[in-house]
Formats: sequence, structure tokens, C-alpha cells
Amino acid sequence: MRPSPITATVDFERDGLQHGFLRVPHSRDDSAWGSIPIPVTVVRNGDGPTALLTGGNHGDEYEGPIALFDLATRLRPEDVNGRVIIVPGMNYPAFRAGRRTSPIDAGNLNRVFPGRPDGTVTEKIADYFQRVLLPMADLVVDIHSGGKTLDFVPFAAVHVLDDAAQQAACVAAMEAFGAPYSMLLLEPDASGLYDFAAESMGKVFVSTELGGGGTATARSVAIARRGVRNVLVHAGILAGTAEPGSTTRLEMPSSECFVVCEHEGLVEPCVDLGEPVRAGAPIARVHGVTRTGDAPAEYRAPLDGVLAGRHFPGLVQAGDCLAVVAVPVR
Ligand code: CA
Repeated sequence: MRPSPITATVDFERDGLQHGFLRVPHSRDDSAWGSIPIPVTVVRNGDGPTALLTGGNHGDEYEGPIALFDLATRLRPEDVNGRVIIVPGMNYPAFRAGRRTSPIDAGNLNRVFPGRPDGTVTEKIADYFQRVLLPMADLVVDIHSGGKTLDFVPFAAVHVLDDAAQQAACVAAMEAFGAPYSMLLLEPDASGLYDFAAESMGKVFVSTELGGGGTATARSVAIARRGVRNVLVHAGILAGTAEPGSTTRLEMPSSECFVVCEHEGLVEPCVDLGEPVRAGAPIARVHGVTRTGDAPAEYRAPLDGVLAGRHFPGLVQAGDCLAVVAVPVR
């Protein structure tokens, strides 16, 4: 396969602190030989483990970019054993536009892995992570939240993996992150995920959903900031003691956990995030908006658990994920 057209202005093998860019060539009307400069920071001190920390995989999720732009201003080589690579805005065009997907090619970065070196801008970014950055990493943390259309209880997450030792290492890193909830995650659509690209290379991979609604809160940013530090301590990259705090383990035993809307209209939540639900109890009602006098459609909890995720905007369409119910374990 041809080499990536993306060039880094930093040297990943050099000791010290470097702030630079991943330059994605992008020839366009307002810049004929132009490029997209994706900010990157590398902090390296010797031959210890490498952590790859990312935010902005989806451009409308803010805990990752806030925590990671901030970390890039604070981290010093003398604090680090090994290497930390920080990309706060992974799908940078999407991040700058405040959108989930790229305004250039409508690319959803987390659905196009492994990407292509000769593909769209979004596919080129995926390919660079697939073939250049991921192979350097021992530990990968990708910070998500719900974006403009979803909201979640704050959780760190891992997937069920075939390799038990790798799974145990991922669970240990997730617990070290120390979000209020720790989720064994089922994906509604597993194709093209960055997660699976990393996991299939045997990496220790932790993702998160730390809130949503297209913004961040003081609480959700604090969880991201503390979680990243905790995971770096856990990996032996930072000295000190992790402060994980208490976490509630959650599982998603089947695709029943996703409640999919079959109506369009106005959402009336019957339960708020983090509240317990019983199978069969109402979790949301959808009111039609084209006439008065029609009874709302009622959506019920598919199983006993807690409301872990919800549709965020006030209006909903058929096919939207209306709610996610997860099951506390232990
Ligand atoms: Ca996301």
C-alpha cells in the first residue's frame, strides 16, 4: 500500500516536548496547495511505554479536546517515563465545524477505519492512525461523549474481546480511569471503529462516553482530566498515585439495551440519566406534533437496569436511538 500523504512536523522518536501538526494535504478553492494542520503534542523521555490520547474523533464532543489541549500545556518530559502522544482534535475539520462528521466529505472518522491513503480526507486521517500512530502505542485512550444528539451517564468503556489477557488489561485500565461508571460496551454499529482497529492490534484500549448534548460540564471535564492522569499513572508513564474513586460496573447484555424510536415527534422523558428502571416501566413518551388529540407513543424499559443514555434533542425521528438501558453488575 502507498505511504500516507500525511506528514508530521514532530519527530515521534525524539526525547523532549514537541508541539506540532499532522499535515493532511487538502487542495481546495481557497488554498490550491493547502493542508489541514491537525494539532499534535509528543512528550517523550526514554524508552518506556507509549500512550496515544485522542479527543474529537467526533467533532461535537468536548471533554476530550478540553482535557487534552489542557494536558498538552502541562505535561513536561521530566514527568514522563516513555512517551505520550496527544491529538485533542482527531477529526479536526469536524471539530472546527462543531459537527460529528467532517464538513469536507461528511466522513464519520469512527466508521471508516482502517481508512485509505488515497481516500477522502477523513479516510486519510483514519489510515494515518491505523498505520502510523496506533502501531507506536501500548495504551490508547479515546475520549468520547454523546455529541449533539445523545447524552450519557459518565462512563469509561471496554469491549468484550477474544483474548482474555488483553481484555483483563483493558478492564484494569478502564477501572484505573475511574469514571463514575465503567461499562462493558455493546456497539450498535461495530463497522469501521477506531476501537476495533486498536483492539485487533492487541493494544490496551479504553474509550469513554462522558456526557453529551454538544457541550461539556465542569463535572464531565473533571472526570476526563482525572481519568487521563489516572490511566497514565496506571501505565507507569506518570509517577504518583491514581485516584480512581468509586465506580459502578455496567453491562449491556444484548441489543435489547438500545431503545429505538419508531415515531417522530416530541420526546417527553419519564426517567432521567442514572435513575433505575424496571422492565416494562415507561422511560419516554413521544408526542405527535401535527395535530392535537392523539395519545403519545409510550416507550418502556426493555429490562431492569439504569438509564445510561438518552436521545438529547427535544425532537426525535423514527430510527433514532431513544434510550440506552444498562445493567449494574455486582
Ligand atoms: Ca462519539
